[in-house]
Amino acid sequence: MPPVVEKPLFFLDYDGTLAPIVDDPTAAVPHPDAPELLEQLDARYPLWIVTGRDLQALASFLDRPYRAIGLHGAQEGIVGRETNNLMSEAAAGALRRLRQSVPLVEGLEVEDKDQSFAVHYRAVADEAATRSRLRDWLADLPAVLDAIWGKKVVELRPKGLTKGTAVRRIADDHPDHVPVYVGDDVTDEDAFEALQEMNRAAVTIKVGAGDTRAAARLDGPEAVMEYLRQYL
Ligand SMILES: [Mg+2]
Repeated sequence: MPPVVEKPLFFLDYDGTLAPIVDDPTAAVPHPDAPELLEQLDARYPLWIVTGRDLQALASFLDRPYRAIGLHGAQEGIVGRETNNLMSEAAAGALRRLRQSVPLVEGLEVEDKDQSFAVHYRAVADEAATRSRLRDWLADLPAVLDAIWGKKVVELRPKGLTKGTAVRRIADDHPDHVPVYVGDDVTDEDAFEALQEMNRAAVTIKVGAGDTRAAARLDGPEAVMEYLRQYL
């Protein structure tokens, strides 16, 4: 079991951490113990829900106005009450312009997300040629954007808005608390890394299998509930 600290500052991921992973993301209801546990923790300690989802979507699962970070760090707000998009006008404009200039290649597929878009090239005839064409297209990438190359995909998103930057900002506002971050996502690794780089006490917990920078691990939502119950 990961350590229990005296003055926690909670960062809790939603899917896979507070709610079991299900095939249909619109049916991802919280673990049965989560609503009451969250309410009690939130009454005693600073607590943020951290998710890759749009905060609007979270309101159908959580019935209280928790503070929250959405879209992997690009939104901050209060569940069911307010959603602030942190992306700058400059980044939004650059993203729009880039979206309009995606090279025309047969089989290239654009996936639009709320504050980013991804260009998939797994279905093109000549992958190498397409990849080099995409590199040319992104050669003069505006400084406000990041291009993240993945497996047969490149994603364009505003620079510097990750779960890591969000957690750094919030943790700085609570210097006398110990951040306790629980998450199962690849993007949670940005937060684990940020907390380790901050050079202060923190509890980092990866949920489930897979490589991680977190110091501790829990099996799944059931084990997360068991761990969190110790703070009551
Ligand atoms: Mg998750």
